[in-house]
Amino acid sequence: MTTTGFPKLIARYLTVGTATVEVAETGPRDDNGFGRDTVSTCTGCRTVETDRWNTTSYSFSGEPIHRSVTEAATNAEARSRQWAQRHAESCRAMPLD
Ligand SMILES: [Zn+2]
Repeated sequence: MTTTGFPKLIARYLTVGTATVEVAETGPRDDNGFGRDTVSTCTGCRTVETDRWNTTSYSFSGEPIHRSVTEAATNAEARSRQWAQRHAESCRAMPLD
């Protein structure tokens, strides 16, 4: 199990309080990537938002929908970037460091 280089930073947003929201992936987007996450952390207010890489979801009629780890990670990245952008626009907590 190689996890060298992880968590890997994939995006950073500047908040209105001059802190940053760091978006990172907990592991590589490979076949062993089930259950990994994209994690967004605000260095100002310390809020952490976790988005699990869901490779299975269910349709309205209950049928399972399977997707690749890469697709699940791409979806999680899109949601995480949206969350980080919204948080950065409103968070006024300043980093103490
Ligand atoms: Zn914040």
